[in-house]
Amino acid sequence: MRSIKFFLVSGILATLILFNFVAALQGYQSSMEEADRLFDNQMLDLARLVSSLDFSTQDIDEVRLGNDLTFQVWAGDELVAAANNAPDLPILEFSPGFGYANFNGYRWRTFTRFDTPRNRWVIVAERTDLRFVLAENVVIESVIPLLLGIPLVGLLIWFIVSQGLRPLAALSLELKKKRANDLSPILSANSRVELDQTIESVNGFISRLAKAMEREKRFSADAAHELRTPISALKVQLHNLGSDIDTSNDSYQQLQQGVERMQHLIEQLLALYRTTPEQFEANSTELDLYAITQQQIAMLYSSFERKQQQVELEGNSAMIIGDKFSLETMLSNLLLNANKFTPAAGKIRVRVEENTDEICLTVEDNGPGIPPQDRKTVFERFYRVDRGAAAYHPPGCGLGLTIVNHITELHNARITLEDSSFATGSAFKIHFRK
Ligand code: ADP
Repeated sequence: MRSIKFFLVSGILATLILFNFVAALQGYQSSMEEADRLFDNQMLDLARLVSSLDFSTQDIDEVRLGNDLTFQVWAGDELVAAANNAPDLPILEFSPGFGYANFNGYRWRTFTRFDTPRNRWVIVAERTDLRFVLAENVVIESVIPLLLGIPLVGLLIWFIVSQGLRPLAALSLELKKKRANDLSPILSANSRVELDQTIESVNGFISRLAKAMEREKRFSADAAHELRTPISALKVQLHNLGSDIDTSNDSYQQLQQGVERMQHLIEQLLALYRTTPEQFEANSTELDLYAITQQQIAMLYSSFERKQQQVELEGNSAMIIGDKFSLETMLSNLLLNANKFTPAAGKIRVRVEENTDEICLTVEDNGPGIPPQDRKTVFERFYRVDRGAAAYHPPGCGLGLTIVNHITELHNARITLEDSSFATGSAFKIHFRK
């Protein structure tokens, strides 16, 4: 997953680690130089001490050395004195100053001086590996706390970055929580300067969208309203024509079906735009859902009878708060769909149940049902299930269930679509809160 937080945390941490690594390298180098200086000074002191000794009278044991230090004193070719761990031959050519030599299996730092009063060469030597050990100890001591601190620093950076990105997370949550039909502007109460431009742009976009939707809504409602009158006039003319000509005529039949379909679409469009939240608020009353359902079944009885369908109503009276017109539209859409999609002699069952926390209205049939993959999309505008070319497609415009869903939302209810309790078919359930 590409995440800004991950990018920032890993980027900052990697920079810190790199910086610490370079600082440790630098530290190692300067510690080495410091150790060199220190040890060189020690060697100078030792060389001075050895020079000051008169080995004919003083015991060599006065120069107490560890294994890491050694010395030789040469008078010409003669070895005047040497530490126990010194080689038998000269450590290196006699030449004053610092140098390096290899013996006893180690590399040694050497210092040679000519002791003029006694006319002899003094060579002192010290193992170089010890200098590294010292420098390494200094670096390790300074690097270990840094290494151990990396997880803690990582956590701190994670916390700071999370805090810094909080306004962004809050904005994305606000956008996510926004319902599809909520076109109110985004509040920028806890926003940061960096997000102001984005919020302004999104709000500008929402406002343009709201205006466009309002225009579309007004246009559709106006157009549907304006078309209603000529359609009614057409229907009257068609009826009159029917008494003059043979109504089984093919053109007449098609004309009649076309006019019916147009009227259905116009009525659905009007229903969609007439059920607004404002209307719902104004017309909300206490209603008996069972009684309204009974009335709607009675109103549509001729349609069921025409297809010899059996309609059952189960349940008892159940009171809900709602808008009567919207509920009637919702019921008639569900009932007419059941009537339309269920074949002749099919079964339709309607139930109004009161449970402890909800009142549930179920409209189910033993028709072809709705495949699971279409159960969400059927509520979208103009969506119709594609059942293949060979299947029977009753006339319709794909707005019925959109209206049902819209009215359900207005009533703060929830709609579910399941298999019916018959062998085939679908069950639409509207759950009203109590
Ligand atoms: P319309 O009925 O005008 O096509 P709807 O929005 O009412 O539009 O329904 C959308 C689609 O859902 C329908 O085209 C149909 O494929 C499917 N549908 C709706 N109700 C039923 C039902 N009772 N049985 C089978 N399919 C249905």
